[in-house]
Amino acid sequence: MYIVMLGAPGSGKGTIGKILSHDLGLTHVSTGDIFREQSNKKTELGKKIREYMESGALVPDEVVIETVKARLLEEDVKDGAILDGFPRTVAQAEALRDFLKENRPEAKRVAIELDVPDAEIVRRVVNRLICTNKACGEIYNKETRPPKQEGICDVCGSELKRRKDDNEETVTKRLDIYHQNSKNLIDFYRKNNALYSIYPQELEVAVKKIEEFLEEYKRK
Ligand code: AMP
Repeated sequence: MYIVMLGAPGSGKGTIGKILSHDLGLTHVSTGDIFREQSNKKTELGKKIREYMESGALVPDEVVIETVKARLLEEDVKDGAILDGFPRTVAQAEALRDFLKENRPEAKRVAIELDVPDAEIVRRVVNRLICTNKACGEIYNKETRPPKQEGICDVCGSELKRRKDDNEETVTKRLDIYHQNSKNLIDFYRKNNALYSIYPQELEVAVKKIEEFLEEYKRK
């Protein structure tokens, strides 16, 4: 099964996506993580990607689609994956649909929408801290999910940092861009009868509800 996580930046796609990945045994693929890695490279493409990300703009569809197609041809995602942060536009959703139809015709496809009010999004994003150990990547929140020891990851003991694009100015822009695309994107999945929307207030409750939905969906 391929599970698409939809939601504004800071809605919990990464946190919930990683829990689902662990519970369902599906690889977690985050386009944001892939682009952050590419942006550290000193190539022309790396430089361009860094500019888009740091300003809060989207990376162009052609680049995103090629990147994801290449990733989805790898062995660990041949039976399914949790896609976090992709698609973000209808063009990307169509490209994913066509790619899966061609390459994984039997696979089920479903979207989970994390629907969080804007005011809460801004609070979540400016308080977000991420583990700097890429293999861990645990996500914290200074207010709602603080680490036991300030600045240190509970899971692996590495340093926690704020993402460069997690500031109030950039998050407002990212949120605007999200709203420009989200209605059409959500309609796209609703039309396919493969959309589950939830306002994730308490993490454990939200995960339980999503997993119940997915269990039911698998049996259909
Ligand atoms: P994220 O970690 O998902 O918040 O993504 C961080 C940044 O990476 C975004 O603000 C975009 O600049 C870029 N990005 C990630 N995924 C996509 C995508 N599917 N389409 C376009 N840009 C993306």
